[in-house]
Amino acid sequence: MKYDFIIAGAGCAGLSLLYSLLQEPTLQKKSILVIDKDNKKKNDRTWCFWEKKPGLFESIIHAKWNTLEFLSSDFEEKLDLGTYTYKMIQGIDFYNFVIDFAKKFSNVTFLQESIISINSNETSANVKTIDNSYSSNLVFNSTAIFNPEITEENSLLQHFKGWVIKTEEPIFNPEVGRLMDFRIAQEHGATFMYVLPTSTTEALVEFTLFTPSLLEKESYNSALKKYIKEELNIDNYTITHEEFGVIPMSLAKFKKNPKKNIINIGTSGGYTKASSGYTFQFIQKDVAQIIENLKLDNNLNANLSFKDKLYNWYDRTLIDVLLSKKLTGKDVFTKIFKKNSPEKIFAFLGNESSLLEDIAIMKSLPLKPFLVSGIKQLQNKN
Ligand SMILES: Cc1cc2nc3c(=O)[nH]c(=O)nc-3n(C[C@H](O)[C@H](O)[C@H](O)COP(=O)(O)OP(=O)(O)OC[C@H]3O[C@@H](n4cnc5c(N)ncnc54)[C@H](O)[C@@H]3O)c2cc1C
Repeated sequence: MKYDFIIAGAGCAGLSLLYSLLQEPTLQKKSILVIDKDNKKKNDRTWCFWEKKPGLFESIIHAKWNTLEFLSSDFEEKLDLGTYTYKMIQGIDFYNFVIDFAKKFSNVTFLQESIISINSNETSANVKTIDNSYSSNLVFNSTAIFNPEITEENSLLQHFKGWVIKTEEPIFNPEVGRLMDFRIAQEHGATFMYVLPTSTTEALVEFTLFTPSLLEKESYNSALKKYIKEELNIDNYTITHEEFGVIPMSLAKFKKNPKKNIINIGTSGGYTKASSGYTFQFIQKDVAQIIENLKLDNNLNANLSFKDKLYNWYDRTLIDVLLSKKLTGKDVFTKIFKKNSPEKIFAFLGNESSLLEDIAIMKSLPLKPFLVSGIKQLQNKN
């Protein structure tokens, strides 16, 4: 059988696309094969993102905030997000929500198999797993099969360990999240804590670094323990959930259309914002665009818009500044948060700012290092 679409990888991007396809009357009857090596039954990650309006996944939002804190050695501020809301979704809620919904559709097939290659010709695309081969008109891929090589020269890694901790006494203020606390040691590179209270007795505490390589496993635990004790002043707590992640913050180019009839989505399609690691909201925008193009029978490989290219260049410039150690991450983020309104910063970080707003953000940063890196990245064609 030849499917209309194969979705290779049923994580954030694959399932976001599946959900949107099934919402769209002109596409919801297409035959869709979804393949993942995993059964998606684990709560393996927590997604946070910001948006102005209720999104497609509003019913599974676990917690949300309109105020976030930024803390650095010489600067602390409570950020009022204005028209934005910062939202949290638990991975398992998302997987269950989309998979349960999709199971009502007889034209959707789920398979748990490991993909080893994806190929295509003029009229179709083929997915090979260890035991089988499947054919379709189009493949949407979020496996790492076509990913560029990530090296210490072309990438920083955003790596983090998060604990959801539960206390007996009410300690947290669930109205205020802590976006970045840079007051901790910066010996490895940009390093901060992230604290998101979901109730007065529960919070996600995440130790995050932007550095070329990972730390010893135990270092993440000891940093979390120290911060919880010394900064949050909590002695008694239980850890109810743990997560660990590594997200590439890369100058390497992730291909959107690696071969005819194959479309990369998610991190593999370059939808991880290189300068922050945020991906969820950019996946949702890409999916909305894919649905629009499929509906109108438009080319799915349309070129990037001028503004997309510009954000790409900003991101690459910042990565280059950090990789070449011209400025520290702590310096850059502190300067940005000190001198700009939170709503403007979130618009900028979410690729939703105007050119004038971009210029205002750039003016809060030292010109020379960004100019040198910016020119270098304009010349970088890889
Ligand atoms: C712990 C963690 C927390 C994160 N938190 C945030 C956050 O707060 N905000 C944010 O915006 N981003 C966050 N991210 C980054 C990003 O949003 C996620 O990584 C997101 O899941 C990326 O979506 P994706 O679909 O590209 O990849 P994934 O969700 O990883 O999906 C890829 C899928 O492909 C499957 N797969 C891979 N290889 C094969 C193969 N060979 N055969 C079959 N199946 C295969 C995998 O099993 C997986 O299900 C986080 C990442 C992690 C790891």
